Amino acid sequence: MIIVLKPHTSEENITRVENLVKNRGLDTHIVRGTEMTIIGCIGDTTLIDPRLFEVDSCVDKVMHVQEPYKLANRAFHPEDSVVDVSGVKIGAGHMAFIAGPCSVESFEQVLEVAKSIKASGANMLRGGAFKPRTSPYSFQGLGMEGLDILCAVKKEVGLPIVTELMSPQHLDVFNEKVDLIQIGARNMQNFDLLKQLGQIDRPILLKRGLNATYEEWVMSAEYIMAAGNENVILCERGIRTFETYTRNTLDLQSIPVLRKKTHLPVVIDPSHAGGKWWLVEPMAKAAVAAGADGLMIEVHNNPECALCDGAQSLKPDKYDTLLKQVKQIAEVVGKKV
Ligand code: PEP
Ligand code: MN
Repeated sequence: MIIVLKPHTSEENITRVENLVKNRGLDTHIVRGTEMTIIGCIGDTTLIDPRLFEVDSCVDKVMHVQEPYKLANRAFHPEDSVVDVSGVKIGAGHMAFIAGPCSVESFEQVLEVAKSIKASGANMLRGGAFKPRTSPYSFQGLGMEGLDILCAVKKEVGLPIVTELMSPQHLDVFNEKVDLIQIGARNMQNFDLLKQLGQIDRPILLKRGLNATYEEWVMSAEYIMAAGNENVILCERGIRTFETYTRNTLDLQSIPVLRKKTHLPVVIDPSHAGGKWWLVEPMAKAAVAAGADGLMIEVHNNPECALCDGAQSLKPDKYDTLLKQVKQIAEVVGKKV
């Protein structure tokens, strides 16, 4: 349930109405917008009669929220959220252009890719240090050494870094060193991990599970937010369908759906969706045209020899051309680029 207060309600009255809600055993979440103030009521509101609040002279209207997610719900927060990743803003027109190799392979490799994507206009560097691989015999990532490489490249090139956290055991070191902590598709419903991410205030890039519905995905964001960290960015990376020609199927509909149902920024990863480098360009363009708040794209300086996901990685020159075109599209749809 949400309580919309009349414009210009005083702080004193906001607190008074908030206390009325708390006296009913509910928690509150206040959103102060430019136009209005909203009190989100969190807890079991099914037995509460909205008329209790509607009669208050400061209350404009009371609405029941159908969805099980509250903090992530646009009804609670009508304006787009802006997530700040070490000075790079995402959301409300600000675009995230995240690029880099699937896996960190060496300092020289990451440095070369980072320099080129930065020159092309990317504003964040990705690279996996801990890799979730289907086979235990595949390259598992360089682990802590990979994280140190990312930090060294960040120092040299100056782009914030994005990398995947797989285990709660690394939470503290990630919190200290990583600008945007990625939670991969396979861990989207690792609820213990999600709860722990709520204890820090580092921004989180929450990828959609391989077969997660929108509601399941947003509920995972809700876990992080309910535990105290509201800096969540959603990332669609393709879902499992009956089609086997492509690695996954990119769900472009997720962009307008999530932007309607939530206020969180939505980033698209066309690389893991299609699994083929030549699908990245058309899908990236379509995603931005459909309103995405950013793109995460795998770029490798030598894809033929990549230790992971070479087939879906763009070469730096292709990324350069793509980003120029994508920025034109972003401008047409009203983004700030
Ligand atoms: C990745 O981004 O490197 C990755 C493993 O992605 P996903 O979790 O979407 O498969
Ligand atoms: Mn990959």
